[in-house]
Amino acid sequence: MDFDIHPIGGVVPIMEGYRYSTLVDVVMASKRGLDPSRPVHLFGAGHPMMFPLAVLMGCDMFDSAAYAKYARDERIMYPTGTRFLRDLHDLACSCPACVKTSVDDLKEMDKSERTRRIAEHNLHVSLLELKKVKNAIHEGSIWEMVEMRARAHPALLDALKTLVAHKDHLERFEPASRRGAFFYCGPESHERPTVTRYRERFFSRYRRPDTKVLVGFEDAEKPYSRTYSKEMSAISRKVDASFLVASFFGPVPIELDHMFPIAQSVIPKDLDPEVIRRMGEVMERHAHAHGYPLAVMWDGEETLSFIEDIAPVNRERDSDVMMCRAVLDMQFGRGAGDILADKKIEFVKSRNTGRIRNVMIDGAHALSLRAHDGRFTLKSDGARLLMKALPPPKMRVVVEDEPAEFSRKGANVFAKFVVDCDEDIRPGDDLMVVDTKGELAAVGRALMNREEMLAFRRGIAVRVKSTPEE
Ligand SMILES: [Zn+2]
Repeated sequence: MDFDIHPIGGVVPIMEGYRYSTLVDVVMASKRGLDPSRPVHLFGAGHPMMFPLAVLMGCDMFDSAAYAKYARDERIMYPTGTRFLRDLHDLACSCPACVKTSVDDLKEMDKSERTRRIAEHNLHVSLLELKKVKNAIHEGSIWEMVEMRARAHPALLDALKTLVAHKDHLERFEPASRRGAFFYCGPESHERPTVTRYRERFFSRYRRPDTKVLVGFEDAEKPYSRTYSKEMSAISRKVDASFLVASFFGPVPIELDHMFPIAQSVIPKDLDPEVIRRMGEVMERHAHAHGYPLAVMWDGEETLSFIEDIAPVNRERDSDVMMCRAVLDMQFGRGAGDILADKKIEFVKSRNTGRIRNVMIDGAHALSLRAHDGRFTLKSDGARLLMKALPPPKMRVVVEDEPAEFSRKGANVFAKFVVDCDEDIRPGDDLMVVDTKGELAAVGRALMNREEMLAFRRGIAVRVKSTPEE
């Protein structure tokens, strides 16, 4: 129905009973059916311990009298749970209501003053937690925040596990990359949308180099290309081989070593057994699908002597070109890497790090490689090539013709002018803005996914980065 805001109600008994797992099913079922441009109000959600979870599910607003009700019962809220005043040794809080007050002070106050103080405290911690949630959204770490908060109460941990079951829906709204590193918080991190997306795209988009041999390495210090550089150059001198690491994220070909989230991740050395089991299942799937005539796990010099006669070096391979091809396929879709085929490829590299900055294709600056996430920024010349390699609607946003003319001059694309969009586009993806005839109007970066672009009547859908005239 055509409401401005959609409230989800009737959930207070569920929350009061700590049935957060049920709450997740209720909210996610509601969200799936709702217009993504409309704010969702979660009625009666007043405890800071579940704010991050509610926000991650897509709730925008809360209202509750819990802060006051709790205060009347002398219950003090914290982001990690609730304590009765009588059980506290210290308030352990520096909010304005607590900073000059002790537990004894509170106990000695008359009832109404005490209730007011505790209510103030409860409001302060609620507001502070919401501010932390905003920071987490901004830096892209809301999943980490929810996983860490889940350790505060077993009911929240159950809720997190239920949320993981909805990961396919949540993945569509998950940004393509972020500035900070991926942090492992527990076994559930292995099912976070960033991880499952990497795995799915590896199996559906990545194309292996046409070598005869695949050499696999154990997970190790990142970047893998540095850790295993000695082994790889020794092997490459004698054998026509590709390289892959059995990582937390799944199989990582050495070409994808610097791409988010692989290099930009902090994973403990000693992983939980259930993660190790699931990693094994993913490697098993790869073993059936990789298509190499021969695949071996590296086990020192013996491995080299075993494979050197089977597949001797027969041609020189340009590892920079192989890397670009693999990243193009992963970022834009299978086949995108073909824009490099039969072309003159030159690289502009950083003088300090030696890493690729710009990719020149037949003399034109087509792509820039971003240092922070190892993904490409698309230039107009690169976009023209991609349009030939990827059939519509791949990596395209179709815009009404008149606004497309404004985008040709550099104007951002407003959601209300979007006619259609590739369903694989995620917020943060570089893409092509085209008019209704399919002509390139601009190159930009998505701020929304397809569902959002089609639903929103206001706001920017694509930030335009460059235009064909530039
Ligand atoms: Zn306080």
